[in-house]
Amino acid sequence: MAPVEKPMDRLRARLDEHRMGMSVALEEARHALSIGEVPVGACVVLDGEILSRACNLRETLRDPTAHAEIIALRRAAFMVGAWRLTGATMYVTLEPCAMCAGALVLARIDRVVFGTRDPKAGACGSVMDVPGNRSLNHRVEVIGPFMEEECRELLQEFFRSMRKDSRTDCREMPGATSKHPVGNGTMLNGFA
Ligand SMILES: [Zn+2]
Repeated sequence: MAPVEKPMDRLRARLDEHRMGMSVALEEARHALSIGEVPVGACVVLDGEILSRACNLRETLRDPTAHAEIIALRRAAFMVGAWRLTGATMYVTLEPCAMCAGALVLARIDRVVFGTRDPKAGACGSVMDVPGNRSLNHRVEVIGPFMEEECRELLQEFFRSMRKDSRTDCREMPGATSKHPVGNGTMLNGFA
């Protein structure tokens, strides 16, 4: 007779999987930090396997849509050979924005687990709730904040260093002002 799976065991296994997924997303976020990007990382997991992983590459690619979630979704779809990612879970260190939350709905992904809330642009409950919108034909389960402290600390570290830089380097660069520093010195952040 097959062993009976207890609900607590199932919960523990699921928590372990969430921790594993978020740890991979955090590795990606640390990589983003090391290359001067806003530190956000993501990965897509299907049946316990990592399908894809990515970090924010907005500055590197000079692409406003190059968020970690979008790149990870594209890579995951390439891996399965289909745009539909039914059964998959996305782990991302920051609450997805409206564009990324919309892309998660379009990909028919099962759930998203996010690290820390984005009080300025979060579209999974903070500023708006795209995955929970009843008018849409697919609902994405949202879990978060999860492993919040680690995810938030990385962002705080980044914005602290940006502020320090904008007081020195950025204002000396052509076209930069203290209000609009060039490069990565964006004024966005609710993580100070
Ligand atoms: Zn986004």
